Amino acid sequence: MRYVIVDVEATCWENSKDRSSMEIIEIGAVVLASSQGPALAEFSEFIKPVAEPRLSAFCTQLTSITQEQVDAAEYFWTVFPRFVEWIGSEPFRLCSWGGYDLNQFRQDCQRHKLQLPATFEPHINLKKEFARLFKVKLCGMATALKIARLPLEGVHHRGLDDARNIARLAQLMLPRLEAETHARTGR
Ligand code: AMP
Ligand code: MG
Repeated sequence: MRYVIVDVEATCWENSKDRSSMEIIEIGAVVLASSQGPALAEFSEFIKPVAEPRLSAFCTQLTSITQEQVDAAEYFWTVFPRFVEWIGSEPFRLCSWGGYDLNQFRQDCQRHKLQLPATFEPHINLKKEFARLFKVKLCGMATALKIARLPLEGVHHRGLDDARNIARLAQLMLPRLEAETHARTGR
């Protein structure tokens, strides 16, 4: 089975407005050929937000994404179909750290009247699986890397760098998840 590890960055504010104001400004993803890799390809694109086109200083500080980068980007309705096309038609399982990324895709698809592909579910919540397999509390990606004794590579809170780091955590977990599925279903 192929695995697509995705991480999105979104508009945000220090004194968080409600979640419905957030919009994706970057999609980063890595596709693994199988549960143990290797990484076959990577996706990285900025997206121009429509609801709150000006990034807050907080958002730029958190993500390092600049106003110029999103201003020069295309809208979600153009970039998202390109992401779906990049994934391709071969079967895959979508994975991310927590439920946030899939929820944000759902919200932005609704906003832009796009269909969330049915293939995005069932989604693997690696944060939940990490807590279960490593017998620890739910934690952020940076903490999980420390627990797994893996270095945090690249810039945290950037889509592709986060996706690459999450992919390395995924490679520790996916073989075990596949073995569990096999034991349960014979597949
Ligand atoms: P992450 O994948 O952890 O980089 O987070 C994804 C998105 O969640 C970010 O682009 C922000 O929109 C939001 N986010 C993450 N951490 C925070 C935070 N400490 N405060 C407000 N929003 C955040
Ligand atoms: Mg991120």
